[in-house]
Amino acid sequence: MSLLPASLERLIVLLSRLPGIGERTATRLAFAALAEGDEYLGDLARSLDEATEKITYCKSCHMLAESELCRICSDPGRDSRVMCVVATIPDVLAFERSGAFRGRYHVTHGVLSPLKGVGPSELRLHNLRSRLTEQGVEEVILATPTGVEGEATALYLTRSLSDLGLRVTRIATGVPMGGELEYVDPTTLSRALEGRVNV
Ligand SMILES: [Zn+2]
Repeated sequence: MSLLPASLERLIVLLSRLPGIGERTATRLAFAALAEGDEYLGDLARSLDEATEKITYCKSCHMLAESELCRICSDPGRDSRVMCVVATIPDVLAFERSGAFRGRYHVTHGVLSPLKGVGPSELRLHNLRSRLTEQGVEEVILATPTGVEGEATALYLTRSLSDLGLRVTRIATGVPMGGELEYVDPTTLSRALEGRVNV
């Protein structure tokens, strides 16, 4: 390592912080990036700068966005009567890949976990009730993960939204226990959505 220029070492250290990238892979990526040449490196640097500057969270659903509202929230073609509550942004992408859902989303950015000190106020739930009432939502689909914490989160949401008089449903358990939605294949996810049950 010490034979390499300091700037390259820094790049390798930064890359190796990403999930699934060990030091060897990071080194390989850094060398490959250098081999691409100055134009590529400039583009990569600008792209990172742009991402840093522009990417934020949607004020409404908490998905990634480049302005106040994300692409899904600003799309008038989406069905505002149905809202799918998911734990993570990759879960939104999984539903979008399946093509089975045309409603709106609400991303909680986590699940309830008393052991890890995650209570309702740690999740992005502050505007969920107002979204449901103001946007004329008729059905909330709870698509939090199927593990203990995901179920606890779904139960909490069911109880805390029960006074709104909405149909509250839970996606069917075609999804493996504790499995994260992002790893579920589109067909299974479509079936889980179709087979949702009232809670
Ligand atoms: Zn949004």
